Amino acid sequence: MLQNIKVFGIVQGVGFRPFISRIADDFFICGTVANKGSYVEIFAQGTLENLEKFVRAISKKAPPRSAILKVDVTEIFSEKNFTRFEIIESEHEAGDIFVSPDIAICENCAKELFNPSDKRYLHPFINCTACGPRLTILENMPYDRERTSMKVFPMCESCKAEYFNKDSRRFDAQPICCNNCGPEVYIFGSNERGAAAIRKVRKILLEGGIAAIKGIGGFHLACDAKNFSAVQKLRESKFRPNKPFAVMFKNLDAVKAECILTDSEKIFLDSPQKPIVLLPKKNNCTIAENVAPHINKIGAMLPYTPLHLLIFDYPDEIKNFPATLVMTSGNPSGVPITIDDEDAAKNLECDIIISNNRKILMRADDSVLDFIDGEPSMIRRSRGYAPLPLFVDKKNIPALAIGGELKNTFCLAKNNLLYPSPYIGDVGDLRTVEILKSSISRMIDLLEIRPKIVACDLHPRYQTSQIAAEISAKLQIPLVKVQHHYAHILSCLAENNFFGEAIGVAFDGTGYGADGTIWGGEIFICDTKNFKRVGHIAKFLQAGGDKSARECWRSAISMLKDFSVAKDLNLTAEKNIDAQIFMLEKNLNCVESTSCGRLFDAVSAILGICKVSSYEGEAAMRLQSAAETSTKNFDSIFEVGKNLILPTDKLFAEILSRRLEGASVADLAKFFHVQLAEMVAQVCEKISLQTKIKTVAISGGCFQNSLLSSLTIEKLKLRGLKVLRQKLIPPNDGGICLGQALATSNFLNLPKLT
Ligand code: ZN
Ligand code: FE
Repeated sequence: MLQNIKVFGIVQGVGFRPFISRIADDFFICGTVANKGSYVEIFAQGTLENLEKFVRAISKKAPPRSAILKVDVTEIFSEKNFTRFEIIESEHEAGDIFVSPDIAICENCAKELFNPSDKRYLHPFINCTACGPRLTILENMPYDRERTSMKVFPMCESCKAEYFNKDSRRFDAQPICCNNCGPEVYIFGSNERGAAAIRKVRKILLEGGIAAIKGIGGFHLACDAKNFSAVQKLRESKFRPNKPFAVMFKNLDAVKAECILTDSEKIFLDSPQKPIVLLPKKNNCTIAENVAPHINKIGAMLPYTPLHLLIFDYPDEIKNFPATLVMTSGNPSGVPITIDDEDAAKNLECDIIISNNRKILMRADDSVLDFIDGEPSMIRRSRGYAPLPLFVDKKNIPALAIGGELKNTFCLAKNNLLYPSPYIGDVGDLRTVEILKSSISRMIDLLEIRPKIVACDLHPRYQTSQIAAEISAKLQIPLVKVQHHYAHILSCLAENNFFGEAIGVAFDGTGYGADGTIWGGEIFICDTKNFKRVGHIAKFLQAGGDKSARECWRSAISMLKDFSVAKDLNLTAEKNIDAQIFMLEKNLNCVESTSCGRLFDAVSAILGICKVSSYEGEAAMRLQSAAETSTKNFDSIFEVGKNLILPTDKLFAEILSRRLEGASVADLAKFFHVQLAEMVAQVCEKISLQTKIKTVAISGGCFQNSLLSSLTIEKLKLRGLKVLRQKLIPPNDGGICLGQALATSNFLNLPKLT
């Protein structure tokens, strides 16, 4: 009997064809298997019984990195007689396409890496069908060596033998290579290569120097995480006085020595994606204080490339190499991560650059995860996750959603799939604009999606809105503009595959409101078709334009009922206070605002925690850290009225008066979080009673705050409401592309453009 079997899902670049070939042998099946770009196609000939076992084994025993979504089996009536089972050349066919993200080095390869009798002993590019680079070296689909940046490294005879050997771990492994035929590491600007290059980098790091290290998706800047002055030097060269740096730990034991690690966090930290996970510092943590100043967590990750392992552990004369290295993206502030040598030499301030001759074709920053109530909360979704699609029970026309201005990612949609891109960055900078444009065309090519509609934010002055308008004009396709906070809520609905009516709570820094004012503390009633703004936090005047996002004291003054206390609070220089008050009184350079982010800033400032943020979200993060040191509990003392406006102005005034009476800063920080969560729960309960809607979707950058999220969820659940929140898509602006993409699904029946 002959069957045609199509397997859909993540079945490329994960050792799927060799796996099929092995189980075919197990059940005496003859035939072929081929990559079709969007699926794997098998022709299988055997007895009915064996064919059934074979098909069952496909789903049951599939390789760990694969994800099967669907297996279609059809019987074929043909005279054809196969005599053996073979893997045949990739052919191309259109359909839904799945591109595998990059995969951290696996245990088997790590073992071989340090085995002196292995042919890949100390080879910085060791990989197999279960691990190694994928998206970042991919030129085009289907995934085969000749369409990757490995094409310039012809396999040596012995690698070739493994590549064609069914019993090898590297059977059909596209980036297979070894010390004889693979890429090579080198020190940029010198002729030290291979072992000499690695030794040199280790020496410089040990001595407190800064190294730029080319990884999977871009360059990192690294230094000893326990060396205060090395970290300080790195801060100065990156112009980052306070922004927390991620730390790469040699292994799990090194993590446990410095951080508190729960089982669920461990699973993610050590997963094949190897993201950065935010972990609470232990009391006796010995990581330099300036790695994450004023924050009680450390962004921790484990080595994920062979080179990382070699840098930590090389068989040379250095015996006391640090077990923790700062590893921060190598880029000038706000610009996407550097991927080539010339750029690195020009833009990265460091003592040494270790690079290699395997080209990075697509950037991939490290992904960042926090945990809320024991479950993940994605902060940046990139390496290891993107561009895996999300499945929604809603049909999409081919669409491009361009995303927001900060933390930009974009999203392509087709059929039931939404593909969020790797992290791009802040699109304020022209260099980022160029990279966004080129990444869009790369992903469009890779995924073979020809957008019939493009979506962007409502903000008229966003670069992203402009790019979307250009694309719309060039491709002659319609452009839809999606209100920022509605996009946040839609993103949450899409991730949860929920398409009914919901109460939406979107709290973030700023977004352009449908009425032209600044929004950011919004309560909606909505579904995937439309939204209604039914409530918000108390309005205030935001004075000082863009500066107020950084200068928290400006928001604090804006929210004061009585300006005369401004000077008692020691918020900033007197002349600045006077100028700010002048603007507010004369209504100059002022906008009406309901930004929840600015409310956090203002509270942080009056508590003396952070008056000026040196990076986005600093004031709020430090406010949360302070709140987490308080052990006090508070009852609700405010009531949300019939107008559904959260009395955050009264909350602010209360905190101020308690502060002036001398209450503890930590307790007041906690008080703020509790009361705000309480107000959200109250307003949702009120709306639910009126509308019978039982589901609340929370999103927006403020819900990255695990304390606020956790309190809000608890209080909503106490009132019998079902809460949807984001887990693997960021609630911050890095997630709004997904919401924009979902919004385009309302345009399924587009009029034909001529
Ligand atoms: Zn491997
Ligand atoms: Fe936002």
